[in-house]
Amino acid sequence: MTGETPKPPDAVRISAAKCVRCGAPVTPRTRPFCSQRCADIDLAGWLTERYRVPGDEAPAEDGEDGEKP
Ligand SMILES: [Zn+2]
Repeated sequence: MTGETPKPPDAVRISAAKCVRCGAPVTPRTRPFCSQRCADIDLAGWLTERYRVPGDEAPAEDGEDGEKP
């Protein structure tokens, strides 16, 4: 093992990282997305899917009018 060139794994990772949404190069600020937009879209998709899960009612967070005996 001859570690002659210690390269920062973080920088390399960010450089090689690609947006999980559109594939564009990501930025450290919006990892793992290329922009806040992609992050927002992905997050929205997650929330939507979570609420679309059949047979699994959403947890009563606010309980506005979803009261069941
Ligand atoms: Zn993107």
